[in-house]
Amino acid sequence: MQVFGLIGDPVGHSRSPPMHEAAYAELGMDARYVTFEPTGAGAAVKAAGSLGIAGLNVTIPFKRDVFDYIDPDPLAARIGAVNTVDFSTDPPRGYNTDLAGVTRSLAYHDIDPSGADAVVVGAGGAGRAAVFALVDAGASVHVANRTLATAEDLVAAVGEGTTAGGLATLDDCVPDADLLVNATSVGMDEDETPVPARLLHADLTVLDAVYSPVETRLLREAAAANATTVDGAWMLLFQGVEAFEVWTGREAPVESMNRALRDQL
Ligand code: NAP
Repeated sequence: MQVFGLIGDPVGHSRSPPMHEAAYAELGMDARYVTFEPTGAGAAVKAAGSLGIAGLNVTIPFKRDVFDYIDPDPLAARIGAVNTVDFSTDPPRGYNTDLAGVTRSLAYHDIDPSGADAVVVGAGGAGRAAVFALVDAGASVHVANRTLATAEDLVAAVGEGTTAGGLATLDDCVPDADLLVNATSVGMDEDETPVPARLLHADLTVLDAVYSPVETRLLREAAAANATTVDGAWMLLFQGVEAFEVWTGREAPVESMNRALRDQL
């Protein structure tokens, strides 16, 4: 039996086990997906290697710590965060599939970011993945973050095609934008929004990284403004799809995984 899993703290809320196990069932794989709350990233990676665990997802607070114990692929190294570790090599290889979570969510909905004026709110792990994804796809990106210095650090790391500002810059940028990504935790299990409704419009596509609730206040207000909306469960799905494909080399059964994920939300 193959064992995959998730390390983080906490992980009790994770929707990943049923999503991945739906893929194993669909493809007839003898595999399980287990969650762990280890004492540290290093201890977890070493233990996983010696126990023969095939792959791990990594979430808060270990996405950066895990770097010291793996060999990051070039994309994960640029983003500065790892959310997927593959143990088929020595040292284990680290990937960032949150980037694919963004690009594949947009592609699935026939949204092409090439040439778009995009605004990413938030500059943490999800924000970094979203900004690299959009710039690599040919968008211009304004990063608006509560802590200006974090947005400036991100823009300095990405380079050309990006600008940074505080949340007040949303007033100027969102009315002219084609694409808006919420990569803050605002709206997670609360009826709050990081972007005032008056800025939303019909020419905008809004992707929310927040997936609980599936219809956040931001998405509800975006739909009311006739914007196109893509909920955070798509990003969660496609980061998992990409991780499955990294670990197994097989095409993931996207529809089964999506059903298993949405059954929990
Ligand atoms: P993180 O690294 O902790 O970053 C949090 C971000 O939210 C920072 O930019 C922070 O700004 C901002 N923020 C927090 N509270 C805020 C507030 N009250 N007002 C304005 N900004 C605020 O977290 P993360 O890993 O990027 O995750 C961010 C969200 O995305 C979470 O809800 C997470 O669940 C979700 N997520 C979803 C997926 C998916 O697959 N759907 C994947 C990854 C993450 P400061 O820099 O000023 O603190």
